Amino acid sequence: MSKFLNDKYLSLERYVPGEQPQDKKYIKLNTNESPFPPSPKVIEGLNKEEKEKLCLYCDPECKGLKKALADLYGVKAENVFLSNGSDDILNFAFMVWGKDGAIFPDITYGFYTVFCDLHGVKYTQYPLKDDFSINADDYIGKKEFAVIANPNAPTGMTMEMSDIEKIVASNPDRVVLIDEAYVDFGGESALPLTEKYDNILVCQTFSKSRSLAGARLGFAIGNKALIEDLDLIKYSTNPYNVNRLTQKAGEYAVEENEYYVNNCKKIVENREYTQRELERLGFRVLDSKANFIFVKSDKISGGDLYTALKDRGVLVRHFTRERIKDYNRVTIGSREQMEKFIGCVTDILKGE
Ligand SMILES: *Cc1c(COP(=O)(O)O)cnc(C)c1O
Repeated sequence: MSKFLNDKYLSLERYVPGEQPQDKKYIKLNTNESPFPPSPKVIEGLNKEEKEKLCLYCDPECKGLKKALADLYGVKAENVFLSNGSDDILNFAFMVWGKDGAIFPDITYGFYTVFCDLHGVKYTQYPLKDDFSINADDYIGKKEFAVIANPNAPTGMTMEMSDIEKIVASNPDRVVLIDEAYVDFGGESALPLTEKYDNILVCQTFSKSRSLAGARLGFAIGNKALIEDLDLIKYSTNPYNVNRLTQKAGEYAVEENEYYVNNCKKIVENREYTQRELERLGFRVLDSKANFIFVKSDKISGGDLYTALKDRGVLVRHFTRERIKDYNRVTIGSREQMEKFIGCVTDILKGE
C-alpha cells in the first residue's frame, strides 16, 4: 500500500474470488458459473452495429431491461434496480441500510463481512445449526439489517418461505435482504413478499442461471422507496453502472427465458446424478437447491481432495474455515463434466 492510503482502509481484508488460473484448461467447478453459453439472441444480438454504439453512453435508467424484467416478474419498473453484478447491490445495501448494524449467518457468502468492514457496519454472525440450516429465530425481532442468502452459499440449503416472512414481518423498521443468486435451481423466491412488505429486498443475478457472469448484471426487486435508496448511491457513484452491451444482453436473455429455464432443469438433473454418485462413494452431500453441492468424505480431507482434483485438472472450491474445512463446494456443470469429475474422485479414493 502507499503511504497515502486513508487509515480507515488499512485493516480492510479484501474478498478473495474463486481462482481463475490460466496455466492450463481446467474443468471449472469452482465459481458456480453456467456450463452453457448465453442464448442465441444474446450471441447474435451483440453484433457490429451494437458495438459501434459503444462510443455513446448507455441509458443510465436501463429502461428497456427494467421493463423486460418487470414484465417477467409481474412487478412495476419502479420496483426494479439494475447493477453491475449483484455484488454491487449488496455493496450499496450495506452502505444505506446498515446504520444499526447487520446480521447474517456465520457460514454464508464471504463478501458480506467485507462490505461491513468497508462501510464501518458492525455485524453479528449467527452460527448455522449443526445440520447447517439457518436458525430463523436468530433474525426475528432484531433491529439490524438482515441478509440471508436463500439458497445459502456454500451449503446450497434453503429456508422455509414462512420463516422468511416471519423475519420480515417481525420488525417493519429494518430491511431484510434475501440474496437469491441461486434461486433458479429449485428454490422458492421471496418475490411475492415484496408486494406485501416494504422492508424486503430480493436480489438476483444473471451470473449463475443466465450464463452472463462475465457481463456483470444483477438486479433487485422491492418497494419503490428501497429502490430510491439504491438509486441515490448509484447516481452518486456511477450512473452508467450497467454498460451498453450488458443491457442488450440482458434484454435478449429475458426474451429467451425458456432457454435458461431449460438449462436450469439440466443442472438440476446433473446435480441429482452427481449427488447419487458421490453418496455411492460414501460422501456426505448436503441437500442443495443450488447449482453446486457441498460435500465431504470420511476417506479424504477437504484440502487433500481439492489438491488431488486440481492435479487432475478439476477445480473445486475449498474453504479453510474450521467449521467447513472438511468440505468442498462443487459447481454442477454439464453431464460430461460431472462424469469426468466422478471418474477423478473414484480414482483418487482408490489411491490411483
Ligand atoms: C455469485 C453470488 C453473488 C454475486 O454475483 P454477481 O456475479 O456479482 O451478480 C451474490 N450472492 C451470492 C450468494 C453469490 O454466490
